[in-house]
Amino acid sequence: MKYRVLLYYYYADVEDPETFAADHLRFCKDLGLKGRILVAHEGINGTVSGDYEQTERYMEYMKAHPLFKDIVFKIDEAEEHAFKKMFVRPRPELVNLSLDADIDPREQTGEYLSPAEFYEQMQRDDTVVLDVRNIYEYDVGHFRGAIKPEVETFRDTPQWVRDNKHLFEGKKILTYCTGGIRCEKFSGWLKNEGFDNVAQLHGGVATYSKDPVAKGQLWDGQMYVFDERLTVPINQVEHVVVGKDHFDGEPCERYINCANPECNAQILSSEENQAYHLGGCSIECAEHSRNRYIVEQNMTGEFVKARIEELKQTDFAKTEPVLSHKG
Ligand SMILES: [Zn+2]
Repeated sequence: MKYRVLLYYYYADVEDPETFAADHLRFCKDLGLKGRILVAHEGINGTVSGDYEQTERYMEYMKAHPLFKDIVFKIDEAEEHAFKKMFVRPRPELVNLSLDADIDPREQTGEYLSPAEFYEQMQRDDTVVLDVRNIYEYDVGHFRGAIKPEVETFRDTPQWVRDNKHLFEGKKILTYCTGGIRCEKFSGWLKNEGFDNVAQLHGGVATYSKDPVAKGQLWDGQMYVFDERLTVPINQVEHVVVGKDHFDGEPCERYINCANPECNAQILSSEENQAYHLGGCSIECAEHSRNRYIVEQNMTGEFVKARIEELKQTDFAKTEPVLSHKG
């Protein structure tokens, strides 16, 4: 494999995020990297792709930078770039969890667990594992038995935790997320809420998957990632499919984007179901005037019309567009 995808974050005091972002963008573009980096007064959070040489030079540069000297990179091998463009954006926060009080993980955060420690502790009776990602990430893969707050958007998670305190009573709470950055804040928030036994998977599932002891074990499904790969494998020992086809509920790990450019929802679907439903997550999206799938597949107007009529006779007609209830 010729390319690599880097995932990283680092809490540090960045005095002028705007200027830093502009300079950093130029540097990344000169290197030939692609990806998405957020810069805030509290630090940096990014994921970029490039060939071996480009990513190597980037990591050397960051480790030599006075602000980021202890930065840790999670490295995935890849066949090609995982992004189309390069963005570096100044932001008020590195990660927006919509918490009511801002948390500085350098002052307040949960105990750090190595992958091997996390693997051992999650199998104990006196622990609960809490997934602090979004529902669409959980749906395609998660730790076996992990609690997923039943909320439509992440910003409702804090209230859900308050309303469901009984689930955590007398237990040590183990949190996890993709690369670890969301846990840094969320575990700190849990401690602020009065939960005193809180730990987090250090380096996130991205680190856990490559650990020689943990080997990604007890992870079911794939892991959702925020780049063009969409999902990556985690468990090196066994593969259990937990994703379900949007259309028929069958086991599925293939993500597609709804063909309606105004919806664009990511759903799991087999090739057959995608074709049958004209690439739409709902009838509304299937018959949208700018349906991309119809164009890509060179379907004739007559064929599309007949298929829409057919679909209207099925339960699919009652399915609402995915984005309309995302909130
Ligand atoms: Zn749609």
